Amino acid sequence: MVLKIAVQKSGRLYDDSIKLLKECGIDISNGVNKLKAEASNFPLEIYFLRDDDIPQYVEDGVADIGIAGENVVYEKKKKVAVVQKLGFGKCRLSIAIDKGAEYTGISFLQGKRIATTYPVLVQQFLKDNQVDAEIHEISGSVEIAPGIGLADAICDLVSSGSTLFMNGLKEVQPILQSQAVLIKNDDLTEEKEQLLQKLLFRIGAVRKAKNNKYILLNAPNNNLSEIIGLLPGMKSPTVLPLAEEGWSSVHSVLNENDFWDIIEKLKDAGAQGILVVPIEKMII
Ligand code: ATP
Ligand code: MG
Repeated sequence: MVLKIAVQKSGRLYDDSIKLLKECGIDISNGVNKLKAEASNFPLEIYFLRDDDIPQYVEDGVADIGIAGENVVYEKKKKVAVVQKLGFGKCRLSIAIDKGAEYTGISFLQGKRIATTYPVLVQQFLKDNQVDAEIHEISGSVEIAPGIGLADAICDLVSSGSTLFMNGLKEVQPILQSQAVLIKNDDLTEEKEQLLQKLLFRIGAVRKAKNNKYILLNAPNNNLSEIIGLLPGMKSPTVLPLAEEGWSSVHSVLNENDFWDIIEKLKDAGAQGILVVPIEKMII
């Protein structure tokens, strides 16, 4: 018995999806340019598909789980469960209008024509905000629609905004923040559910490790307690005596978010020779 996972065949999510599986210790032997690959050391079969099709395949049970952008998952409205945010493929679905136009708030969109490949999400947004606008569903190159007179506004994925800028548009209204997520079929068998939990455990360990750094430093013993107080650690910091009298080596784990703040304070407290190293996996 194997767990079947659908990932994007090529495109913005491909590299990070494969990287995540590798970091989870899963070796994908016969990959690239195939429809299907098998992991050699985990009961996992990988299906390579168009990102738009992934929710459907997961709903149908052709794949048990899948990796897709939230934008696609919510647009397709399939019966699948989102089990884990994955922290990559970040972008937002936003409304953009002519660079020269003045955006006066959501009511600006009243009676306008909006071109998009996301009619469901745009409709929902308009409804939530009690605005009536005409949605033009098109299948690609949405950003040229205003220039050719097809629409007054567009709704599309944005990350840097440079595509909009090149087409004389400006982003005025985000309607969804999106990232890649792991989705699953609603009726997994008990055995498949257990495999999924195994995979999720590994994903959790990889993601925690990414957000944390291992830190080693030398501390003068007369200021040891202040320095230890600055370091959270997994339980508490490790303290080892240095060969040189009066000094200790302190080891701990720091969260990326607090990192620079704490480093400053450690230096002020007399810490020296601070080393910071990445962590590969973190099991807590
Ligand atoms: P496919 O051939 O699989 O249908 P695609 O061209 O529809 O590919 P990509 O452009 O590769 O899709 O984007 C896949 C996903 O990557 C998007 O659905 C979105 O979740 C995410 N993404 C992240 N940043 C961006 C961005 N700047 N523009 C578009 N998509 C982005
Ligand atoms: Mg697509």
